[in-house]
Amino acid sequence: MGVCVKSTDNLNTTETNSFMHDIVLIPGDGIGPEITEAVTTIFDEAGAPINWVRHTAGLTAHEEQGNPLPEETLDALNEYRIALKGPLTTPIGSGFRSVNVALRKKFQTYSNIRPAKSMPHIDSRYDDIDLVMFRENTEGLYIGKEKWVEKDNHAESIAVITREASEKVVRAAFEYAQEKDRKKVTLVHKANILKFTCGLFMEVGEEVSKDYPDIEYEDIIVDNMAMQMVMDPHQYDVIVTTNLFGDILSDLASGLVGGLGLTGAANIGDDAAIFEAVHGSAPDIAGQNKANPIAFLLSSLMLLEHLKEDEVADRIRNAIHTTLADKSVCTPDIGGNGTTESFTKAVCSNLS
Ligand code: ATP
Repeated sequence: MGVCVKSTDNLNTTETNSFMHDIVLIPGDGIGPEITEAVTTIFDEAGAPINWVRHTAGLTAHEEQGNPLPEETLDALNEYRIALKGPLTTPIGSGFRSVNVALRKKFQTYSNIRPAKSMPHIDSRYDDIDLVMFRENTEGLYIGKEKWVEKDNHAESIAVITREASEKVVRAAFEYAQEKDRKKVTLVHKANILKFTCGLFMEVGEEVSKDYPDIEYEDIIVDNMAMQMVMDPHQYDVIVTTNLFGDILSDLASGLVGGLGLTGAANIGDDAAIFEAVHGSAPDIAGQNKANPIAFLLSSLMLLEHLKEDEVADRIRNAIHTTLADKSVCTPDIGGNGTTESFTKAVCSNLS
């Protein structure tokens, strides 16, 4: 399929490419290897012009190599700058800190873009949901600055909000809204209580919004937002918020469209992009051939669109939609009687 080029060469291309893109692939932990197999099988069948450069990270890497983020993985990410990353397990309460968070910080992927869009044949509580969440990805409560003031009795955690990072993610949300002809940006905060940190985030939102007079702008307190999203999600379009609120509200948004098995995500910075599902490593169903690969597939389609490979992305999306009509091949989380493998096989046959 033509010459091999590095993905960095393609970051700013606008024309359809006919060569192979070198993309780092990290299968990850838990259900990661199963959903990765689904994506690579479907991409092969569709003739997607991707050359996967496989590396490890997370719990698997920690157990096998004693390092959850091995040097060779970092080197590959540094070289190629674009990756598809499976879910990585972060031990709860103790153990090593999140590799997902470390990668977002290291590669300054300041926007975590998480669309939640209704899909055909999915029996969910709402129809026609079409939201896109922009989650600030490099700071907030996720910087990992925690300490014991008094061991086992008093712990403290620091949240950092800077004008620079806030402006980057808010501007990215407005740019996206403008490019995709979206009507409204909603900024979510808790500035009534967190007056300095969320106050700054909100102030930046107001300033940036003035550069986009054609896009409606509003802000809302996070607790009210949680209720509003459940009561009347159709009032929202593009949402931008801080790191922790974005984490929580994007799982809520996944719930609106049928669950975590259906929402993809992209971590985008100025010179790096890491695509992943919104969901975690789902250890409760790992190795059981039950994982829904759609979320990771949607992340992979975001990757193809980032590479301007829209034709193949559209073909795969259509095949997913066709496949959803047959519940006998779909995974149990969306009401099916099938498996990860049966879904993958059906998408492959629906590609033609
Ligand atoms: P993290 O903190 O890493 O985001 P989490 O603790 O929120 O992870 P997940 O791993 O996302 O948890 O799983 C939450 C629930 O959703 C689990 O019951 C899991 O089985 C289910 N789930 C997640 N992803 C999928 C999927 N792709 N297919 C089916 N079920 C899934």
